[in-house]
This record gives sequence, C-alpha cells and structure tokens, in this order.
Amino acid sequence: MADRSAEDRFDPLLLIFAHPDDEAFGCAGMMAAAADAGAHVALICATRGEMGDSSVPNLDDPEILGAVREEELRAAAAAVGVADVRLLDYRDSGMPGSPANDHPRALSRASEALLATRLVVAIRALRPATVVTFGPDGIYGHPDHLVAHRTAVAAVELAADPAFRPELGATWQTAALYFLAIPRDELLAMFEQRGNPNNGMGPDMAERMGTLRDEIDTWIDVSPWAERKRRAMVAHLTQTGEGGPIAEVAEDAMERRLSRETFARVPLPWAADGRDVVATIAARHPFRKP
Ligand SMILES: [Zn+2]
Repeated sequence: MADRSAEDRFDPLLLIFAHPDDEAFGCAGMMAAAADAGAHVALICATRGEMGDSSVPNLDDPEILGAVREEELRAAAAAVGVADVRLLDYRDSGMPGSPANDHPRALSRASEALLATRLVVAIRALRPATVVTFGPDGIYGHPDHLVAHRTAVAAVELAADPAFRPELGATWQTAALYFLAIPRDELLAMFEQRGNPNNGMGPDMAERMGTLRDEIDTWIDVSPWAERKRRAMVAHLTQTGEGGPIAEVAEDAMERRLSRETFARVPLPWAADGRDVVATIAARHPFRKP
C-alpha cells in the first residue's frame, strides 16, 4: 500500500477475542489498516463458536459447526490481510443458563489463571506494541467475552512482571492496551431493530451493554477498508448468511460498522516505548465524532 515505508513499520498488533466473528464486526477495518501498514497482526480466538446459531442447514452438531467456523474465521482474517490466527481450543459456553455452560471444555469453566498464562506465553513470544480485547462490558455481556477481557488484561500485566514465570520467556511491556468500545446507544438500537429487544437480556444487562460515548477516545475512519471489512463479515457465512443470527443487522447499523471503528485506550502501570498501532492509525485516519 502507498503509506508503507521503512519508517512506518509497526510493531506487532495482537487481538484477543472469544469467538469467530467477534473480530470482524468489531475491528476488521483497523486490522486491515494495520496489516497494510506492515504490522504483523495476530489474532487469538479462544473458542470455535460452537454454540452460535447457523444459517447453514445441518450444522447442528456443535463440533462440526466449530470446524466450519474456524475455516470461516481464517477466511475472514485473510480478507483483511491477517494470516496469524490462533485457536485456543476452548469451547463456546453459549449464553448464561444454556446446557453448554457445563461442557468440560466450556470457556466459562476454564481456569482463568491457566488461560492468562497461555496468553503470557503468546505475548512474550510475539512482543506486541498493542493489544486489543473486549472491555468490561463484553459488548453485550457474553460470558466468554468477559473471560477474554479478564484474562487478556491480566496477561498484559503478567507478561511484564519479572517475578511471573520467568521460564516462560523474557518479560514484555505492551505499549498500549485497547478495549473494543461500541457506543451503547447504537448497540441498543441495533438489538431493538432486530425485533428481539430482550434477546436473553434483562433490563440490567441493557444498562451494561457497550460503552458510553464519553469513554470512547479513539474513533477511526475505516471507510478505505470498507469493502474488505464487508468481505470479512461475509466470510462468516454461518452468522451473516440468510437466516443466520446476524443476517438482519439493519442497513444503517451495517453502514456505521463499515465506516468507522471505536476503541477505548486503557491506562497501563508503565510508560512503554514502542509504537501504538491503534493510535497511529487513528491519527492518520481520524473519524469525526458525531
Ligand atoms: Zn463473541
């Protein structure tokens, strides 16, 4: 791409999410921008999304759906120039109260200490300048999103701690940590438009969905990558195909997701060197907050 030069080279960007498709709607545009700018972009996905609904018939065996969704994830990542996709082999826990919560490999039952340690191994080896994960809202409070949030935040701090498992590699201070931050009002509008305002959520959950606009400090114009982001979303065919769980996202909501992405930078206990990939892209491609 035109804006790639030796001095523009970025340090790696690491994304930590829970299910295939979390990345596509949330930040595929920023992933494409980072990859185009020469950053190594790595995506860690804890599960294969075995408990999602599917637009594709006869995928009611969760393990087969998981295998299909892993391939969809790899195709979606490839659409935005990302080849480094790592599955952690936990299982989608489903929504609270579903029988999948009790599966022995369910992410919500996993040892968070063990998962955080696995993420420390990845961070110390990859040495990312920037890590992006869910915030404490988990977008809409999915228990797997909250596990990803807690363990990713813990791992960023533990990776830098010389007292923590020195046998797992040299310590690494990530320069910047970001949460995916979707404006709460937009999420609520989107859920209502899909004709399913409750969607398994109580009113208290609605109050914890997404991020308040005041807390969103990073708005990126991703319209240059809109077509590739659209391809990434379409690659998740079981989700976005006709009859799939997110096939009916209203056109205006879809256009917003294709035009800009929003993040919240999280303070870290150190001042690290290294280039903040997300901030640099936001500076080059600012989106004017409405
Ligand atoms: Zn998810």
